Amino acid sequence: MLVLILSGILVEAQSTMDEKDEKIARQVQELLDKMTLAEKVGQTNLYNGTWEFTGPVPADDNSQEKAELIKNGGVGGMLNVLTAKGTREAQKLAVENSRLGIPLIFGYDVIHGYRTMLPVPLAQAASWDPEVARKGAEVAAREAAASGLHWTFSPMIDISRDARWGRIMESAGEDAFLTSVMTKAWVEGYQGEDLSAVHTIAACAKHFAAYGFAEGGRDYNTVQISDQTLYNVVLPPFKVAADAGVATFMNAFNELNGVPANGSEFLQRDILKGKWGFDGFVVSDWGSIGEMITHGFAANDKDAARKAMRAGSDMDMEARAYEKHLEALVSSGELDEKILDDAVRRILTIKFKLGLFEDPYRYCDEQRESESIGTTENLAVAREAGRKSIVLLKNDKGLLPLPKDVKSIAVIGQLANSKDVPLGSWRAQAVTNSAVSVLEGIESAVSSDTEVTFAKGYTLTTGRRTFIHELTIVPEDETGFDEAIAVAKSAEVTVLVLGEDCFQTGEGRSQTDIQLKGSQLALFRELMKVNQNIVVVLMNGRPLAIPELAAEAPALVETWFAGSQAGHSIADVLFGKYNPSGKLPVSFPYHVGQEPLYYDRKSTGRPQTNATDDGLVFWSHYTDAPNEALYPFGYGLSYANFAYDQLKLSKSDNGVTVSVSITNTSSLDGIETVQVYVHDVVASWTQPTKRLVAYKQVELKAGSTYTVEFELTEQELGFYHQGYEFYAEDGTFVVMVGGNSRDVLKKSIDLSF
Ligand code: BGC
Repeated sequence: MLVLILSGILVEAQSTMDEKDEKIARQVQELLDKMTLAEKVGQTNLYNGTWEFTGPVPADDNSQEKAELIKNGGVGGMLNVLTAKGTREAQKLAVENSRLGIPLIFGYDVIHGYRTMLPVPLAQAASWDPEVARKGAEVAAREAAASGLHWTFSPMIDISRDARWGRIMESAGEDAFLTSVMTKAWVEGYQGEDLSAVHTIAACAKHFAAYGFAEGGRDYNTVQISDQTLYNVVLPPFKVAADAGVATFMNAFNELNGVPANGSEFLQRDILKGKWGFDGFVVSDWGSIGEMITHGFAANDKDAARKAMRAGSDMDMEARAYEKHLEALVSSGELDEKILDDAVRRILTIKFKLGLFEDPYRYCDEQRESESIGTTENLAVAREAGRKSIVLLKNDKGLLPLPKDVKSIAVIGQLANSKDVPLGSWRAQAVTNSAVSVLEGIESAVSSDTEVTFAKGYTLTTGRRTFIHELTIVPEDETGFDEAIAVAKSAEVTVLVLGEDCFQTGEGRSQTDIQLKGSQLALFRELMKVNQNIVVVLMNGRPLAIPELAAEAPALVETWFAGSQAGHSIADVLFGKYNPSGKLPVSFPYHVGQEPLYYDRKSTGRPQTNATDDGLVFWSHYTDAPNEALYPFGYGLSYANFAYDQLKLSKSDNGVTVSVSITNTSSLDGIETVQVYVHDVVASWTQPTKRLVAYKQVELKAGSTYTVEFELTEQELGFYHQGYEFYAEDGTFVVMVGGNSRDVLKKSIDLSF
């Protein structure tokens, strides 16, 4: 009965939705019928507005020209226009002056928070907890929407397997399944159930596609990958975004196998709008339509405009190629007006869905802006997200958790008292220097009898540190060593914070060296000589090559860039207020030469040691570094210990039921992420030796045993074949279950579908 009633409500909800969509479709068509060609083109233009509406206008800025364009209906949306006041001013230009009064859509890079900064996306993925992503996106949307914004250029769901690529920090890491789980939660968090609610904003799945596979990890570089990788690794999270109803997609700067993403009919028309039935709009990346010229794919701006629009790039972000050429292209018949109409229809539909035609100013609300930004509730979400993102890498001597009444703590490192670096790159409107530093977090966590001393120890960076400026990394500087050694010597325990400046990662921040920079390691060595009770806290946005720390540091904690509440989140973990539960979403290498490094590799024809009598080995390996990761994907410890046992597989109607028992062998409650990997042993396209297909996070009471079950069906066991056909192949499957991708129990089963 209950089921019947519930399904009745669902049907009703569905039909109300359909009616709403049908009404919007009618309204869009009516509007489209009234529009001139120039007005249609106007909707496809997305312009930068930083200076125009938020601050002093630079003398050489083209703000007047843009203002005129807006008044004439020549602009569809703006990015980087900030604050409720700023967006209202800009919106007025469009609504009160243009012939049809079509409102602008305002977009912005709200990547991991607007004012309240959440951990960077890579860190959020380390929580493996979709609620972290969902709640974080809800907070970001609430704050951004109150500032007049309608649209975030997030989530970035590019699979990232190369630690050299600076934008790995903006991703959910190397795995398609984990990224897909986080993607759904991010999209749902930003958009809520109703895009027209004033606290939700449109999301944007980016960068479509394969931007994370830039050769050599060098940003913007050429991408050459197989169809197999494209279908099975790159596209799945994007399909999840489309299925979750994401309002927009952003294409990418890169070319993929010879065709720039902007000009790719295959990606945008065949896959996205065709096979996946995506009905939102595609925006280009900044100036990227014009970049098709330098790629060698378009002869000039006009050619680029024609190719991009035909391929399905609906909106032009700052290349100004559509503005200049679309009208002429349509008038001359070089571009079918129906193609332009389709783009405009998509853009207008999202504007209607946002409720902008009902009230174009509904998001610009100074009152709401002042009430909803940086609230206690939002900060609590950031703190919780921060501590769930932290990964305990090592705790050999049982130094952690630290007792609250520890007599004295030396907190060392330039990063330890930074109130800025934890905010991360792409920090939206965060107030600079507003993060809780590690030092502050520790100070507020300890008892009043604990003596906390600080020493800077090393200097990692000097000079200007901003998104657009190059960083100056200080190569070697031992001037702070003596002071640090002195405080470490007299303290019971040292918390040494090492890592990267947040502007060492991010867009345009590729590196060939991913070791700790400057004099950080030298300082670690000196401190170990005087006091071995050292907890190393890492703060960074990419996997680092840290074999020495892994071998020598008694305790190692990965905290990423943990956001506004970083210091509190970190102290919660260090003092055991939160038992760490994070797991790596990316493999950490021994050496940069292993990159790109990821766990779901295939077997070569020479997988094992094959030593000749004279000691030469001819298997696939390096002679100076291991093949395997230093810390593998999925890895992360708890203060509790978990033992896996009793892996059982049994055939089900459409696949296999997996069960495993897990015992918390410690005296502390803890959370474990139980991970299931499969290997399809023989297949028509060779398969990775393991691939994550499911996981569950379970809270395990101290001393108890739980049985966890998974159902794997064709959906988990199959893969995309040539021609983008998805199905599973009959044969033997190895199923592996464990707390990371390396340490697993295994069993095989023969299945047919
Ligand atoms: C980035 C995008 C971003 C856009 C707008 C580009 O440089 O690649 O990810 O959304 O700028 O700021």
